[in-house]
Amino acid sequence: MRMASDFEAQLRAASLRVTRPRLAVLGALRDHAHVDTDTVISLVRAELPRVSHQAVYDVLRALTTAGLVRRIEPAGAAARYELRVGDNHHHLVCRSCGMIADVDCAVGEAPCLTASDDQGFVIDEAEVVYWGTCPDCTNQRSAQ
Ligand SMILES: [Zn+2]
Ligand SMILES: [Zn+2]
Repeated sequence: MRMASDFEAQLRAASLRVTRPRLAVLGALRDHAHVDTDTVISLVRAELPRVSHQAVYDVLRALTTAGLVRRIEPAGAAARYELRVGDNHHHLVCRSCGMIADVDCAVGEAPCLTASDDQGFVIDEAEVVYWGTCPDCTNQRSAQ
């Protein structure tokens, strides 16, 4: 499996031991972007039935700390995880169903947005959440 060995190389580059739970979490996030912890656990258990909740939490924390996984926390929602890291992309979040979509950085590199007043800060990152209603939810509403 070619992707698995890519993941092994990424783990080694981040000085993390290659373990089956870590590979399973990376594989789950490759196939499902912006999923919450419970979803990651059920995806990993489909592959490794005996992995504990705590083990998956620990893997997510280690991978996030190492920069292999990005954790996003839309206000009022559970934390979500994705493999797309390092590009400072933003997110569209549906208020109705919670669906999340990626939005590329407006100018292509972090921090992407200029603050109206930086108050002397050296800004290296801007994270924007665009809240709204996704196309499916909009269509359902107008169909009612
Ligand atoms: Zn929606
Ligand atoms: Zn994303």
